[in-house]
Amino acid sequence: MNTNKHHLCYLCGQTIEPKLRNDPMALSMDHVPPRQFYPKQIRRTENLNLNIAPSHKRCNEAYKNDEEYFYHSLYPIIAKNNPQLGNLVAQDIQRRSLKQQTPAIIQRILSTKSTVTKGGIHLPNGLSQFALDGKRIERVAAKIARGILFLSTERYFEEQQIIRIDFYDDLNNFLKTYKPALQLNPLAGVYSRAFAHSHFSYKDFRLLLMFFWGAFIFQVIAKDTK
Ligand SMILES: [Zn+2]
Repeated sequence: MNTNKHHLCYLCGQTIEPKLRNDPMALSMDHVPPRQFYPKQIRRTENLNLNIAPSHKRCNEAYKNDEEYFYHSLYPIIAKNNPQLGNLVAQDIQRRSLKQQTPAIIQRILSTKSTVTKGGIHLPNGLSQFALDGKRIERVAAKIARGILFLSTERYFEEQQIIRIDFYDDLNNFLKTYKPALQLNPLAGVYSRAFAHSHFSYKDFRLLLMFFWGAFIFQVIAKDTK
């Protein structure tokens, strides 16, 4: 990537001016999806060339807590649908729980139980069910989708352009429905066992399928302005 040219922040759409490194408005290359979504053991053994997008330090830091929340609160679904990778993620969660702010997040998640999240996400049957804050989860899914759209179109997509987010953990059903589309445009990624996506353009819309940890899928629909 050319570091001399002026970057556009993929999160706020404003130009990133040259600033000192610690300035909140300084350039910060943000991982799409977040780096910690790739388990540490995999990052250590594989030489992953993760996708990055330009942002203001302040803009991407505003998502940090929600990203941590996403990762911890959806872990039970990884453990259920993909136990092998779930083990690696669990190791990371354990390691991260030694950090200060994390136990509070886990406490909060574990202390509330329900079947449907506030944002309307239905959790799989038979899984320990917690009152997930769907709004926070959707905010992270939308951020990742906007990052993918930015990187593939080189255009800014604002949050309001994300018009729909659906969550699927019934993979067989999902993959059956999308089979013809996915044959044309397969799910792919830098390390697709942790994250893969597929991207379709249809009239004024873009459809993104984002497959996390081989365990669940977010379908995101964005309105295109082009
Ligand atoms: Zn920004």
